Amino acid sequence: MSDIINILPDSVANQIAAGEVVDRPAGAVKELLENAMDAGATRIDLIVKDAGRTLIQVTDNGSGMSDSDARLCFERHATSKIHRSDDLFCIHTMGFRGEALASIAAIAQVELRTRLHENDMGTTVVIEGSEIKSQLPVVSPAGTSIMVRNLFFNVPARRNFLKKDSVELSHIEEVFKRIALIHHDIAFSFQSNGKLLYDLKGGSMMQRIAGIYGDHYKQRFYAVDESTDLVTIKGFVSKPEYCRRTRGEQYLFVNGRFIKHLALNGAIEHAFDDLVAERSYPSYFVSLQVDPSRIDVNIHPTKTEVKFADEHALFSILRSAVKRSLGQFTLANKIDFETPQEFNIAPAPAGYHPMPPRISYNADYNPFRSQPLQTSMEHSLFDQERKQMETTESQLIESTMAEMPPTDAGQPCMMVQGRYIVTALSSGIAIIEWRRAQERIIYERLMHGGENASLSQTLLFPTTCRFTPADSEMLAELLPDLKKYGFDITAIGQQTFVVSATPVGFKEAELQQFLEQMLAEYKNATLQRFANRDHNLCASIARQSASAVTAIPRQEEMQQTVADLFACTMPDTTPSGKKIIEIVKPENCFN
Ligand code: ADP
Ligand code: MG
Repeated sequence: MSDIINILPDSVANQIAAGEVVDRPAGAVKELLENAMDAGATRIDLIVKDAGRTLIQVTDNGSGMSDSDARLCFERHATSKIHRSDDLFCIHTMGFRGEALASIAAIAQVELRTRLHENDMGTTVVIEGSEIKSQLPVVSPAGTSIMVRNLFFNVPARRNFLKKDSVELSHIEEVFKRIALIHHDIAFSFQSNGKLLYDLKGGSMMQRIAGIYGDHYKQRFYAVDESTDLVTIKGFVSKPEYCRRTRGEQYLFVNGRFIKHLALNGAIEHAFDDLVAERSYPSYFVSLQVDPSRIDVNIHPTKTEVKFADEHALFSILRSAVKRSLGQFTLANKIDFETPQEFNIAPAPAGYHPMPPRISYNADYNPFRSQPLQTSMEHSLFDQERKQMETTESQLIESTMAEMPPTDAGQPCMMVQGRYIVTALSSGIAIIEWRRAQERIIYERLMHGGENASLSQTLLFPTTCRFTPADSEMLAELLPDLKKYGFDITAIGQQTFVVSATPVGFKEAELQQFLEQMLAEYKNATLQRFANRDHNLCASIARQSASAVTAIPRQEEMQQTVADLFACTMPDTTPSGKKIIEIVKPENCFN
């Protein structure tokens, strides 16, 4: 058999490598922003068109490149950032692999303009599908500007895999935030389809957080600030009352790089253990500075994973630092009034007046009198009053019974640990996860409620809410659907919305937080789980509405929940598949 092995041409090898580095527009944005930072820029401007499909442009005022570097930077393994293998174990820059520009140039039409500060003229290089088309001298500002056009123009398969623009844009926005949050001293701007989404001046971390999320974030966080030989920790963690039911803004950085690290992200959450309800998560922006030789960032191409030499020590230091910060500010919160862990005896129904204890005694009894006397006038009046009260009570109980579910009618319910409804069914003793039950009920009402689902209540005071650009885009897209479910929301600016009506029975007071959370849920559901838009939206609204209810339900509310749950088509699980009910058969336990 003749020889069959070929060496792949560079253009093909680069296209293959590009799959790892640039799987979607956000990947290219990340690499270009990181290059600009590595070049020491103090101002970086990002422009995208059609969520990066048509154009990604990054302009910086960093070092710039010489004429020959401007060509060389597109070669694979061309990097100015490491020189020897030892450098790999002491990385100070964001990039070091020297493959990003080669990869991007393999799958797009790229134009680079760059000028060193000490030169009068710059240079422009045009490269398409790894092929240099031209290089010319050019008059340009000091620094570098890279325009990436028609990403994946020669890889249709990958282009077809891109999600719709709002999804791709939110990936880009996430990349932008991860970089802008930690490099808060650098000025950034971000423009999408001609709209300026962010315009951030250099400043402190809190100024940056407020610049991105809005000024109202300033009062949601406590500062963390701790310095040891091993690590310097700086940042902000949310006040316990702003903890949320989904993991929202959880940003952990090490040496200026966004990372995800099971143990260290966990350390921050653990610090909140005694302060917040279960399944409630903090937001945080925490930056760690460690000796670069004690970490390895070289274990994953997208580089959000990092290995630490001193993981155990870091875990303890980080957890203590966060605990200390929370402790300083929230001593009073140590006693959690909202979710008592003991048995909760449900409060009495509205309108119920407790009866005075019935003690029978003879008010006229006189142990020294030999003849028993007739009951006095006053006493019989008291008796009449008592009779009247007794009838009122029994009427009340009857009217409550009338509202009870037709099945299992009148079975008393008990709330245990603020979380479970325990009640008797004909099949056994049911333990029902109360919030999950609510979630299922609300979901089915929205999905199948027909007319009723769209009933809305006009708010007395319309509420203004503000969102991040990507959230605003998503919300704007969802407005007609939300209207269907009873939310009347109008956009009054690019990122500002007024909520004037909510679904009937909707109780959440914090609309801003509710909608933020709902969008986060929706984004998660869309990215990860299901394709059906109505399902995703209803499931998100239901989950948020259900978890927003914090008051312990009254007896008749619990009974109503049980009845409503069994009227659902799928009472066993939540829309996302979590178990709602467990039935225990006592006879199986005790024979
Ligand atoms: P890496 O960042 O891993 O070195 P890249 O392919 O991203 O690899 O970039 C290759 C080289 O091009 C960099 O090492 C740097 O010298 C140069 N370069 C890239 N972008 C810029 C920029 N914005 N300003 C100055 N130099 C740059
Ligand atoms: Mg790079």
